[in-house]
Amino acid sequence: MIEVDLHLHTTFSDGTLTPTELVNLCASKGLKVIAISDHDSTEGLPEAMAAAEAHPGLTIIPAIELSTDVPGSEIHMLGYFVDTADQGFQNTLEEFRKGRHNRGELMVEKLNNLGLNISWERVQEISDGGAIGRPHIAQALVEAGYIEFPKQAFDQYIGRNGPAYVERPKLTPQDAVGLLVKNGALPVMAHPTYSQAKSDRDGVAGLLETLQNLRDYGLVGMEVFYGDYTSDQVDYLKEIADELDIVPCGGSDYHASGNPGEPQPGTVGPPMWTVERLRTVRSEISVGRSLS
Ligand code: AMP
Ligand code: ZN
Ligand code: FE
Ligand code: FE
Repeated sequence: MIEVDLHLHTTFSDGTLTPTELVNLCASKGLKVIAISDHDSTEGLPEAMAAAEAHPGLTIIPAIELSTDVPGSEIHMLGYFVDTADQGFQNTLEEFRKGRHNRGELMVEKLNNLGLNISWERVQEISDGGAIGRPHIAQALVEAGYIEFPKQAFDQYIGRNGPAYVERPKLTPQDAVGLLVKNGALPVMAHPTYSQAKSDRDGVAGLLETLQNLRDYGLVGMEVFYGDYTSDQVDYLKEIADELDIVPCGGSDYHASGNPGEPQPGTVGPPMWTVERLRTVRSEISVGRSLS
């Protein structure tokens, strides 16, 4: 029985369910602890917390997902128990969202030059005020009939090596861990290895060394029980997490994306013990902070 899902997106980034719809869905699947982890935004959290009041058995961990670049690839960093009142952090997130906006517009321009007629206005409407991401562009391409599913947009046009891909302002994984540590959030590496569902993404090169390095900056865990990972992938990551003594986390990374075979909330996630361990690490860190 899956009780925990620590990776979920809403309309405040590139998910298609509102926080209320997502919380209700998670409750109906019997989940007990969920983390709402929108890209570069914590703005969906108040609505999610309010919706959770109708479900006394469900706890929400406030979270965030940051995207970082490494040569030829990306690493995403989750932050758990994020302090949403941290104004400096919120200003940084706003900058990231502006970067997403500019980059989205450039990608639409590139698509137009390739003869794919979608409008930037429509992409903004689809994003509905949320942090703009490639899935919004993919959705516009689906609507216009160029592709059948959003995933095809990544395979053909806006994946890292696609003809309409545009980079975002660079952030390193160390920068992201630093931002989260400064906020008081617990940094956890997202989807560390290849995922079938997100085909433009490879595994992190030199995973062990990268994790060791990031642990020095304050990384506390990585995703192990993730999305569509096979049991071989989970076993491989579990071993590394054990070896480095970092917390094995995970979740569905559900976006209600409209892609066939998308992992659903309630079908994948870490054990409750993971949440207990995160809480322990969190209290140790706050004791450390108050002593220093
Ligand atoms: P962005 O934040 O604009 O770089 O877009 C990244 C988001 O696009 C991820 O969080 C996923 O939601 C989605 N995504 C990335 N790669 C794929 C893929 N190959 N197929 C479908 N969705 C993807
Ligand atoms: Zn996403
Ligand atoms: Fe991600
Ligand atoms: Fe995600």
